Amino acid sequence: MNDKYFETQAIRTQIERSQFLEHSTPLYLTSSFVFEDAEDMRASFAEEKERNIYSRFTNPNTSEFVDKICKMEGAESGYAFATGMSAVFSTFAALLDAGDHIVSSRSVFGSTHSLFTKFLPKWNIETSYFKIDEVDRIEGLIKENTKILYAESPTNPAVDILDLELLGRIAKKHNLLLIIDNCFATPYLQNPIKFGADLVIHSATKLIDGQGRVLGGVTVGNAEIIRKIYLFSRNTGPALSPFNAWVLSKSLETLAVRLEKHCENALKVAEFLERHDKIDLVKYPFLKSHSQYEIAKKQMKLGGNVVAFEVKGGIEAGRDFLNAIKLCSLSANLGDTRTIVTHPASTTHSKLSQDDRLETGISDGLVRISVGLENVNDIINDLKQALG
Ligand SMILES: *Cc1c(COP(=O)(O)O)cnc(C)c1O
Repeated sequence: MNDKYFETQAIRTQIERSQFLEHSTPLYLTSSFVFEDAEDMRASFAEEKERNIYSRFTNPNTSEFVDKICKMEGAESGYAFATGMSAVFSTFAALLDAGDHIVSSRSVFGSTHSLFTKFLPKWNIETSYFKIDEVDRIEGLIKENTKILYAESPTNPAVDILDLELLGRIAKKHNLLLIIDNCFATPYLQNPIKFGADLVIHSATKLIDGQGRVLGGVTVGNAEIIRKIYLFSRNTGPALSPFNAWVLSKSLETLAVRLEKHCENALKVAEFLERHDKIDLVKYPFLKSHSQYEIAKKQMKLGGNVVAFEVKGGIEAGRDFLNAIKLCSLSANLGDTRTIVTHPASTTHSKLSQDDRLETGISDGLVRISVGLENVNDIINDLKQALG
């Protein structure tokens, strides 16, 4: 199957049919699997054969989902988790020892930042940060005990871009594991393994599900490293449910067509905002005005579905704009069929000091819009009337 195109793999990667010869993969709602006899049971537990034992370890539906993501990312192996955050946490917990050190981009998902600042320090694991415009400082942050280089690109919510090829070179030179949270790009727009990443993490809750229905996460990459993550996870229990895996595997069949439309709509929204006189700044990776446009073009197929922009007039203007929105949703999710608008400074990032917010690229008037699949004219008309 690896010789097939992306869309074909997304649709035709399928677990073996059952005796009923179903066309689409059925849902395997079973906690465990039966053994032929005592010898089969022994050999299965000894991992002398590859087979399902218990759904905390593997299940046909989660295996199909993981298989597809591996093909789409060019990865050897993977494990699926209940949420994106359980993928992030389990990956770090499986690979790090007490006293290890992480170098990370400062612009990471809020809960990932909390993991670095509040929870990993319990095991004496410290993290040093570089800002988006300080990639030349990364090598200076690496210490003897540094094990992981971590980043997201595009970043949330400011839609900045990091040069994955550069990160890959640095990781290789210093013998670090490069882990990329590829949630905003999805495997359709960007494959970090091509640029030297050892592992790729997704919150499948976002564009992979794409319809705001289920939570899920996945880590894929080098088989030896995934084996460590698998052994940690099969014992500690963050597994994705078979039902969610079934939904997500089905969602992947339409990822390519959905993303084409999401990105087309997002570019039109970005171009509209760029022309509007009540908007100060628009950030979208595939707008020529984006400061990392060239890098985005090098590593991404299209610009993604998230646009960040600044309403003139600061925090009040940002809030007023949100209050005037009629069609789009005010919600904490992103990557849904429904367009979602958020104001990070007064919501998701309100607990940070203004200085800390500015460090992650969040100014007071910054608005983030996750452009959905409604007719783009309706989305633009809503934004137009809300801007007044
Ligand atoms: C949402 C998100 C996560 C966490 O995923 P959940 O499925 O909500 O746990 C991690 N990284 C990024 C970039 C995200 O947007």
